[in-house]
Amino acid sequence: MEQNQRVYLDYAATTPVDERVLHCMLPYFTQSFGNPSSIHTFGQQAEAALDAARQSVAQSLHARPEEIVFTSCGTESDNLAIRGAALAMRQNSGASHILISPVEHHAVSNTVRQLVEWDGFTFDYLPVDATGMVHADEVEAAIRSETGLVSVIYANNEIGTINPILEIAEVCRRRGVLFHTDAVQAAAHLPMDVERDGIDFLAIGAHKFYGPKGVGALYIRRGVRVSPTQTGGKQESGLRAGTHNIPYIVGMAEALHLAQTEQAERSARLSEMRDWILQRVISEIPRSRITGHPTQRLPNHSSFAFEGVDGNRLLMMLDLAGFACSSGSACKVGTPEASEVLTAIGLSANWGLGSLRVTLGKDTSRQQVDGFLQVLPEIVSRARGLSGRNG
Ligand SMILES: *Cc1c(COP(=O)(O)O)cnc(C)c1O
Repeated sequence: MEQNQRVYLDYAATTPVDERVLHCMLPYFTQSFGNPSSIHTFGQQAEAALDAARQSVAQSLHARPEEIVFTSCGTESDNLAIRGAALAMRQNSGASHILISPVEHHAVSNTVRQLVEWDGFTFDYLPVDATGMVHADEVEAAIRSETGLVSVIYANNEIGTINPILEIAEVCRRRGVLFHTDAVQAAAHLPMDVERDGIDFLAIGAHKFYGPKGVGALYIRRGVRVSPTQTGGKQESGLRAGTHNIPYIVGMAEALHLAQTEQAERSARLSEMRDWILQRVISEIPRSRITGHPTQRLPNHSSFAFEGVDGNRLLMMLDLAGFACSSGSACKVGTPEASEVLTAIGLSANWGLGSLRVTLGKDTSRQQVDGFLQVLPEIVSRARGLSGRNG
């Protein structure tokens, strides 16, 4: 199959760099290549680009420029928020208890696990309902006197569910607990506003919204103390040492600006196709169900479980037919267990191993979607025949 005939339906895993973004980045590789920490004109040019990018990212998130820390990816942003806040809060107030949802990305959950195993912190999972949603009243009920930090994913990468972030943040603020949200998926598709939501930390990564891989940002509310997780020079107010990757930072700022200004338009078009996919799959494929919330979900995101199907085999068969999809998180391929997220929402192995995630991009066409829907039922049925678990 020719590369250009293949249909990519895995935009939650990563996106291509937008041509407009690439165009903004190019001069900073070869012409304006200075180190923003240098005194001379080369350095000043780079510093001006860095300042402009910070201003732009702040504006896109409704934050102040001094509240933005540039990092190397969404994962690093989550690490800095969770580890940095945990270490600082223990020193400030003695707080040592962390609450996270059971549907967090590993960038959050494994960071918390390390803090528990190595640094003496304790944690609990917040409850989620069958759609993978966290409810504010349950956050309120779970907060204890030792709790210092709550982390809840803004919108889930595997099952698309959007959490009531504004209400959860309100509870945390009222109870004097810091609130972090992983918005790596959400920033691509939902209007971001840290002031409206009352968030303390918000993590983003550029490659999920048509920016380059290897660059991210963390919003840290002014006045919130964080321990640096990467030490060295004075870059990023001493919170994240290392020479700035100016072309990537410039690219991320432009990509985020485009994602946010084109958000309503992209979202309207995509959510219509998403609903068409959800409806067609459920009505045409026996023993199928939607995973995640039926309506409160990312506009480009549809996800399913098929009973008695080997999800990895299904993905390979779809790939042979020219369609690139995922079973959930890009990191979990090859694991013979249902994902933590699907287990947390109560799927048994017979359903959870047969998951499929179909995520659309801003340029995905109705024709591509229809081509996919045309082949899917037959491929699921063949995968069932092969799995030997079809009852
Ligand atoms: C992709 C993703 C991450 C990790 O971001 P990277 O930039 O790839 O490190 C974290 N959280 C969520 C929800 C993601 O989708």
